[in-house]
Amino acid sequence: MLTAYKFRLYPNEEQQELFSKYFGCSRVVWNKALELRENYYKDHKNDKAKKGLNYYDTARFLKELKQKEEYKWLKEANSQSLQQTLMDLDKAFKAFFQRISKYPKYKKKSAKQSFRIPQHFNFDDGVLYLPKMGKGIRVEVHREFSRDKVKQLTITKTPTGKYFVSITVDDRKEVPKKVQITNEPDKSIGIDMGLKDFAVLSNGIKISNPKYLQRQEKLLKSRQRVLSRKKLGSNNRNKARLMVAKTHERIANQRNDFIHKVSTAITKQFDTIVIETLNVKGMVRNHKLAKAISDASWNRLLQFLKYKAEKQGKNVIEIGMFEKSSKTCYVCGHVNNDLTLNQREWICQDCNSQLDRDINAAINIRDFGLKQIGLNQIPSDRGEFKPVENPLTAELAKMRIKARSTSHDLKKQEPLQQQIAAEAHAL
Ligand SMILES: [Zn+2]
Repeated sequence: MLTAYKFRLYPNEEQQELFSKYFGCSRVVWNKALELRENYYKDHKNDKAKKGLNYYDTARFLKELKQKEEYKWLKEANSQSLQQTLMDLDKAFKAFFQRISKYPKYKKKSAKQSFRIPQHFNFDDGVLYLPKMGKGIRVEVHREFSRDKVKQLTITKTPTGKYFVSITVDDRKEVPKKVQITNEPDKSIGIDMGLKDFAVLSNGIKISNPKYLQRQEKLLKSRQRVLSRKKLGSNNRNKARLMVAKTHERIANQRNDFIHKVSTAITKQFDTIVIETLNVKGMVRNHKLAKAISDASWNRLLQFLKYKAEKQGKNVIEIGMFEKSSKTCYVCGHVNNDLTLNQREWICQDCNSQLDRDINAAINIRDFGLKQIGLNQIPSDRGEFKPVENPLTAELAKMRIKARSTSHDLKKQEPLQQQIAAEAHAL
């Protein structure tokens, strides 16, 4: 089983200079090879017999590049690191063709920098030794790991100037066998993610976005505004850019921490988790910043859930886009095409159920996922939600995560107008 660790690195000035060379080499090799693959594709678009370039083509290209006078400096970097960059690019293309991720992007100097070291490194008592680096680099190891089982190592530098080393450790243990998926109501959960709440679960729990994050997002917005007013290339612009980068970093750290807690609680509690792979509801709205942040957390949550579920032998079912998850009454299947984006609650015209928009969506997501693997929807929890007693609420509270248990009354209800009329009559 693979486990990932990330530790802060403290290179001295000389080492920072070397790192910056390696980052540059890795970035240039990535961009050059990406350009090569793109141009090849453009030139041979109509020639069906020709396939695109692969890793070996780019490796040959790198060899030629290093012979050229103007790219001679590429020889200063560890050649295995550069090969690794080409392998990463190849992986990125494969993931794109399999529709797992977006098209590979060119790397910018102002963004996060990285290079990999596949072998010949060594950890020793708070010091990391790397090939071609001579003296060791101070590293803050805050969690123990088996040093002889480290598979690969990545050095990164954040836009705010912090250095990290990430490692993957293979303990060579088998991944636990998956728990069988059943349609017992307490064993599976559907998750609906939106902008209003961080996540809404099919058992009626709504997990709020943390307040401190909202504050940071406001701060980010104002700092971005300041940055946009600064003159290009000026010293003040650089300072403003650093402030924006720092806020981004803080948001990312707080968000990761929060998503770690949520995903831990969910994977602990449930055997099967159903989640949409794309945030469709977010796309409809037009808050650009909020959307970008919500998309990022969506992907992160999915990533963490999958990682943690795998370690515990739990199941994650991804269901792609499910556009009608909010509109379909989960009780009877009636589709309410009149449902607007702002309507948080609605009453099914067919069966009179009173539905909370997001909880209804989460239940549909769960049932759809189970159906996808051949299980019928869960009949037994119709009408007997007891979210207040759900252990997940207690678990989240312990982690200081705000969760609201919505008493989601699933009994058939009189339409709202009739209720109001009846209440008025009773007065
Ligand atoms: Zn209905």
